[in-house]
Amino acid sequence: MVKKSKIQTPDWILKGKESPKVKKIGKLFKVRKCPKCKKDVRVAIGEIGVWECSKCKWKGKNPNEEELDEEEFMKYLDAKGEEVA
Ligand SMILES: [Zn+2]
Repeated sequence: MVKKSKIQTPDWILKGKESPKVKKIGKLFKVRKCPKCKKDVRVAIGEIGVWECSKCKWKGKNPNEEELDEEEFMKYLDAKGEEVA
């Protein structure tokens, strides 16, 4: 049986690139979350600078920002179950 780690450092981190959704500040990663339900927000399509929450339909320009260190960030990615690319 091949043991595969679920938590992997995404390519863009290894290459020192930034994701449009996540900002890297030194050793911290800044992620944006919905101020209402604390879920991830995404850029609203067709609206510049506007974020929206797919869970509760919150929309606005100032989502909550959370700073995570690399370990916390990996857990965050793992919990999300999707790659931030
Ligand atoms: Zn929400």
